[in-house]
Amino acid sequence: MSLKNYILDIQGFPKEGILFKDITPLLINADASKNCLKILVSSLKDKKIDKVIGVESRGFLFGMLIAQEVNVGFVPVRKPNKLPYKTISATYDLEYGTDTLEIHIDAIQKGDRVVIHDDVLATGGTIKAVCELVERLGGEIVQCNFIMELSFLNGREKVKEQEIFAVIRY
Ligand code: 5GP
Repeated sequence: MSLKNYILDIQGFPKEGILFKDITPLLINADASKNCLKILVSSLKDKKIDKVIGVESRGFLFGMLIAQEVNVGFVPVRKPNKLPYKTISATYDLEYGTDTLEIHIDAIQKGDRVVIHDDVLATGGTIKAVCELVERLGGEIVQCNFIMELSFLNGREKVKEQEIFAVIRY
């Protein structure tokens, strides 16, 4: 069965007018989530990788699994004031207001080859901010890796120079 069958459309979440793509039906099915992980990992075949980043919070779910599969360390990028050690932060625009993400300053070494994983690429604001954090620490971005790309929102345009991989495209 196509993995699209494990993504549920929720109208009006988190607020009116938004169609949210829910991954919990995928997570609850062991075979479907293993298949999803296999595809995410196969996209990294023959690429030399030093770290996998997962973006809070749904990016943690497969991010850590990918890191284990490719046998490298996992780095969490988190919302403000969640990481205990010294951090750098990047702020990006939302439809209304701004959001900020943080990373530990020692999480990436200069020259590290980094994969960034998140569940969804939507408008691209989040991934752009994470790319900025990695680059400020001297990391090289090998791939931006997602379960889903909502291609009608043109998120790729914000990170044109990056390789984008998504298991599912809408
Ligand atoms: P962007 O910054 O690309 O607009 O939004 C991507 C971020 O918002 C990701 O961290 C993702 O978790 C979350 N997001 C935005 N839209 C959706 C959606 O429809 N489903 C899910 N699961 N996450 C979404």
